[in-house]
Amino acid sequence: MNALAVFPHDKRIELIEQPDPTVEKGNHVKLQMLEVGVCGTDREIARFEYGTPPEGSDFLILGHESLARVVELGKLVKNLAEDDLVIVSVRRPCLNSSCLACRAGRQDFCYTGEYSERGIRKAHGFLAEYITEDRRYITRIPKQLRNVAILIEPLTIAEKALAQIYTIQERLPWGIRHDRSGHSQLGAQPGQKTHHAVVVGAGPIGLLGAMLLLLHHFQVTVYSREPQTDRRAQLISSAGARYVCSSNVSVDQLIKQTGNIDLVYEATGAAKIAFDLLKYLGTNGIFVFTGVPGTKAEVELDTSLLMKNLVLKNQLLLGTVNADIDDFQNAVRDLSHFVVRWPNAVEGLITSRSPLTSYQDVLLTSNPNRIKSVLTVAPQ
Ligand SMILES: [Zn+2]
Ligand SMILES: [Zn+2]
Repeated sequence: MNALAVFPHDKRIELIEQPDPTVEKGNHVKLQMLEVGVCGTDREIARFEYGTPPEGSDFLILGHESLARVVELGKLVKNLAEDDLVIVSVRRPCLNSSCLACRAGRQDFCYTGEYSERGIRKAHGFLAEYITEDRRYITRIPKQLRNVAILIEPLTIAEKALAQIYTIQERLPWGIRHDRSGHSQLGAQPGQKTHHAVVVGAGPIGLLGAMLLLLHHFQVTVYSREPQTDRRAQLISSAGARYVCSSNVSVDQLIKQTGNIDLVYEATGAAKIAFDLLKYLGTNGIFVFTGVPGTKAEVELDTSLLMKNLVLKNQLLLGTVNADIDDFQNAVRDLSHFVVRWPNAVEGLITSRSPLTSYQDVLLTSNPNRIKSVLTVAPQ
């Protein structure tokens, strides 16, 4: 079979021939990869800035945003059938017996940092015609989501953040209610407070985060550098968010229009804008960081003001990474709701589908009109 491999030592990326994997354990499943989504992490790995091959290998098979079809089941696999469509999660636990997070199956909270991630770190990814995987890391998806299912993995970032926000804000008895079983009881109910969220950044993580917050009854403003006429701005406005261009409207002006901010969802890794906004986080507010800054530009901070606000306004700063298998299930449920409410906006997030042989164009060239690019591994 073909697979797309990065050789970090030789600074080389190419399609390689690999033996087909076989099901060797009872709880393993063989999958035919259909599509793989491409994100900034893949592009960093393709530029040899990031990524670690598995031990003993000089290459890493790329790809972590998956959509696959079940082709073979181990004898012990339950609740899965041949031809089912599935998504595979990314992170695998560390082997350290003292890591309570990994031992509890919550490797997204791994203490040791010795976890592996498929397609990123010490484990091969999904840009291969076939893979095998343990049943426990596989989430089945309804066939109706086939066209947009590649968005599930990036959506899980927002799902994990939201699950934590609900848990934290249970401290406010009138606040958003925690219920991971369905969206209808969440968010502002009649007579409850409306929650204002500002999402920073209009990439896939920001736009999917904004849609999730809209679905959960937040009033959402997306603040990003693209002009008002940009496809991203129009797409998220059509879903019901307000879009504000950060090149035309300063953070100060933005706050005058928004009022008390209950939540900031940072999805760019832009430290300057993030800390400018942090000054204006509202009473009882949460600031969620999901982006990792690329450059190390200095940012001036009024630390006394920030400390004063954190204390006097009961504020929280929350960093979040990766996702749990529950977040994958919630993402499947919520993406199904997105498709009913905003079919065009959701499909509009996927801006290109290219064959695996076009990997260089997708991974190594920049295109400002691109939102989510997809590499097609198996023809439809
Ligand atoms: Zn990604
Ligand atoms: Zn661990």
